[in-house]
Amino acid sequence: MANIAFIGLGNMGGPMAANLLKAGHSVKAFDLVPEALKQLAEQGAEVAETAIDAVQQAEFVITMLPAGKHVAELFLGEQGILPHINDGALVIDCSTIDTATVLRVAAAATERGLAILDAPVSGGVAAATAGTLTFMCGGKADAVERAKTVLQDMGKNTFLAGDHSAGQVAKMCNNMLLAVQMIGTAEALQLGVNNGLDPKVLSEIMLQSSGRNWSLEVYNPYPGVMENAPASNDFKPGFMVNLMIKDLGLAMENSVATHSATPMGALARSLYASHGAQGNGQLDFSSILNLLRS
Ligand code: NAD
Repeated sequence: MANIAFIGLGNMGGPMAANLLKAGHSVKAFDLVPEALKQLAEQGAEVAETAIDAVQQAEFVITMLPAGKHVAELFLGEQGILPHINDGALVIDCSTIDTATVLRVAAAATERGLAILDAPVSGGVAAATAGTLTFMCGGKADAVERAKTVLQDMGKNTFLAGDHSAGQVAKMCNNMLLAVQMIGTAEALQLGVNNGLDPKVLSEIMLQSSGRNWSLEVYNPYPGVMENAPASNDFKPGFMVNLMIKDLGLAMENSVATHSATPMGALARSLYASHGAQGNGQLDFSSILNLLRS
């Protein structure tokens, strides 16, 4: 069993750290929010006074923070943890962040002689709780093999996408495709309904035809078609519109930097931004149907 420092106990990090405890690992945790720390302490974690205190004895340092600026500050800021991490520890940043920050932190960690992975996840809070996340890693193959000691207790799939930042690239490509697919699925279903079709029947037809896709298969955006989908539960998330806007923003930033043509991604970002600005940011991302309906 490993000694793990876990920093960032929010919606995702909290249940991920809880699964590490359940698997028998020792977890020393830190978050800026005392309530989050208290909850994990009740499940057996040791509470660190500071982020630096959390990492000093750890074999694995896992971080799950909101955005690139938080990750840069935590590792490289004035009170940054990088100089204090145990020699030989493996750093695994599971946050979804921009590739420029990943490369900056990875370069600094490598210079200090530390192995580091970007390992953003697919699967939301439900998968974090169930321990069924997918990890998309960027870094060296031997580091991914070492990481599996702990990742296997939080998820069911671990992929090596390539060198540093490749995990983030894989995640942004996947979520851009997911957004485009969801909008297209909602648009097709609404067109059918506007022509008098039953969305359930239309879904069954498209599922057996060439329009078949993940959104249609397991996450139907039309209310009443799929009992367990957020659409049938007042669009309660699930995966929030605000998080999709964030991920599409990262994809567009990268698309500009790499001179890539991503017209569908750009349109998807724009539609989700309008939808979010109309007060729907906390709803599930399949609620984009309502934008097309109105
Ligand atoms: P969250 O806002 O619920 O949690 C982030 C936590 O980090 C908070 O508890 C905050 O207090 C803590 N934090 C911030 N700065 C800190 C610092 N310097 N030191 C210690 N703690 C600090 O966010 P979340 O939903 O858990 O998401 C985390 C990451 O996972 C994000 O990058 C998000 O894009 C990604 N993600 C989220 C989901 C999801 O469904 N929520 C799914 C996949 C990926």
